Amino acid sequence: MAGKGLLERLAEGPVICAEGYLFELERRGYVQAGPYVPEVVLEAPEAVRQLHHEFVRAGSDVVEAFTYYGHREKLKVIGKEDILEPLNRQALQIAKDVADESGSLLGGDLSNTNTYDPDDPQSLRFVRQAFEEQVGWAVDADVDFIVGETFSWLGEASLALEIIKSSGKPAVMTLAMHQAGIVREGLPMHEACRHLEDAGADVVGLNCSRGPATMLPAIERIRQSVSCHVAALPVPYRTTPDQPTFQSLKDPACQCLPEGRPFPVALDPFTCNRYEMAEFARAAYAMDVRYLGVCCGAGPHHIRALAEALGRRPPASRYSPDMARHSYFGTDPKITAGNREYAARL
Ligand SMILES: [Zn+2]
Repeated sequence: MAGKGLLERLAEGPVICAEGYLFELERRGYVQAGPYVPEVVLEAPEAVRQLHHEFVRAGSDVVEAFTYYGHREKLKVIGKEDILEPLNRQALQIAKDVADESGSLLGGDLSNTNTYDPDDPQSLRFVRQAFEEQVGWAVDADVDFIVGETFSWLGEASLALEIIKSSGKPAVMTLAMHQAGIVREGLPMHEACRHLEDAGADVVGLNCSRGPATMLPAIERIRQSVSCHVAALPVPYRTTPDQPTFQSLKDPACQCLPEGRPFPVALDPFTCNRYEMAEFARAAYAMDVRYLGVCCGAGPHHIRALAEALGRRPPASRYSPDMARHSYFGTDPKITAGNREYAARL
């Protein structure tokens, strides 16, 4: 696949994109929950490089530069606007090194700015500038394409798309679907996606916020509403019709949550296992949804399960489970019969 661009690869089959760097690096002690700014790209670049490697080794076709929330508004919140440009350039360089070594695609990344206000011209100028500067750095790094992700406002996504398209790079636009299932202007997600397709997006869809169970029905409607490629990158959590987003999940079994809710750092009991993520990948691909991945909460084991469900055998499959050789539950003739019998009592 080396040498082929995003659209060529999508024409041939699935493209896997691991996301969720904020959550995984937070778990590993390199990102602070709350502000969620990727300062780690400057402070511990080897940790970012390692996670890129792990995701590629598990089957990700894309190395997405860790510039998520590395924009002007977030850096303002932590009083570090001065590191904006070095942070972006370094994140892109780290991702580029891993992409070059592995023959993966290099993805630039824009996200919601949290300052977009359609009625405030000053906000619109600020958001435009934030996107222009990040797209400029991504183009300097010669990315293969640019992702614009987790938008709640169609207007903000459209602005990001306009600036990505003016760079000449392919655009993957994904919206975050909140509890009501609409963008903030009030349109349902499939209509918002159709607008993005009409405005020139190469891939449209959803990422973050919803788990596989509550994202798939919406993805099906999007697939039926657009003719371009569709993206689906859920969070790996067991969301339900009553609690359809990971922000809305409640954990009655735990009384010790300081915020009273599991989001964002106590979602562990809701984590989807690898088989559930494999099932999601098969179901989405059966609908001809080809840009697939996992967002916040993703671990390399989820990405490997997704890759294997799509018929791949990435390097990490070298260590995929082989329970036949388990000391008690195994069926291999070398496992002692006594252990096999005892297994039921473990
Ligand atoms: Zn996410």
